[in-house]
Amino acid sequence: MKVLYSFFFICTVLFSTSNYAQSYDNYYGSIVNQCSYDSIDIHLTELENLGVKEIGTAALDNTLNWLISKYTSYGYTNIEIDTFTYSSTNAYNLIVTKQGTVYPNTYVIVDGHYDTKTGTGTNDNGSGISIILETARLLQNVDTKYSIKFINFSQEEVGLVGSWHYVNNTVIPSNLDIKVLLNIDEVGGVNGMVNNTIVCERDESNPSANNVASANYTDTLANCVSLYSNLQTEISYAYSSDYMPFQSNNEIITGLFEKNQSPHPHTSTDLKIYLDVNYVYEIAKATIGASLYFAVAYLTTDVEQENKSNFSVYPNPAKGSITIEFNQTPIGQLKMTDIAGKQVKLAPLNSIKKQTFSIAELAKGIYFLNFNNQTVKIVKE
Ligand SMILES: [Zn+2]
Repeated sequence: MKVLYSFFFICTVLFSTSNYAQSYDNYYGSIVNQCSYDSIDIHLTELENLGVKEIGTAALDNTLNWLISKYTSYGYTNIEIDTFTYSSTNAYNLIVTKQGTVYPNTYVIVDGHYDTKTGTGTNDNGSGISIILETARLLQNVDTKYSIKFINFSQEEVGLVGSWHYVNNTVIPSNLDIKVLLNIDEVGGVNGMVNNTIVCERDESNPSANNVASANYTDTLANCVSLYSNLQTEISYAYSSDYMPFQSNNEIITGLFEKNQSPHPHTSTDLKIYLDVNYVYEIAKATIGASLYFAVAYLTTDVEQENKSNFSVYPNPAKGSITIEFNQTPIGQLKMTDIAGKQVKLAPLNSIKKQTFSIAELAKGIYFLNFNNQTVKIVKE
């Protein structure tokens, strides 16, 4: 086991370097600084006042309507209800989508559950829901290259039923392209304790194909925590929350969970007075920073700069095909080489600005596209 662990560790370090080397971004910082302590505080109070959110209760339905009204008030229009049944009663996941400008069909998912067990669930998971709402509020007007889905799952407490339903009925049938999923569940901490550390969770479960990628994103998440909040981080493993159905489908997951574990969740005393609102506020700042980074937020001036490079290549990583979009009519040909420099494809460039090339026949790995005296690295999945 030690040998395996060392190998895993080396892989993690090697694959981490590009994502891990991020530094503080002034634009992202300016958005994080708009995170409101009062918004978090009000969300927690309102969620507590909504009551015990179990299946079949008015409180659960009222919370769904409360969530819809919040997202609507922030300016979101793409709001979907995903209906499923638990114990012969309808339950509803709420999915709010923000469209990306460059990779509209590739999603960063930020999720948490809004159902509760026994108590009002102000920590479990009012804390996560409060953070997701504040993240959605501040990102609504921000351009991001990747699309974002804010997903509020129901029936997590009875066995991840809402997230299993979504994976089996949406993610798998529509082959949803997920860049990374960030799950936030129970991040309230314990009032009266020093809550200065957040646990960043990575995938250590089977299937393991994406565990290295998960470790990489979790390192990136931890770095965002350090850059955009005053919290310290600890890396641990993901378990028992809505990211698990996604990891079972080999999606890349990461998560946030409180370091000082509250004894109140799943009891009638899961109340705001027993958690640390300032801790939730700091985690909200970290989440906003990480969401901006994962979805690649940018200022319009950055795009103008980027347009000077005359093309964009997407998706990347890619599976079946890759598209190159040119700003000017291209000439010459596209040459593709593998990592050893061997040519694997040669195709003429037509005089149209958007051209798609099949890469379905290629083995998984890293390739280089050469055209117009440019070289672009792509990953075939
Ligand atoms: Zn929970």
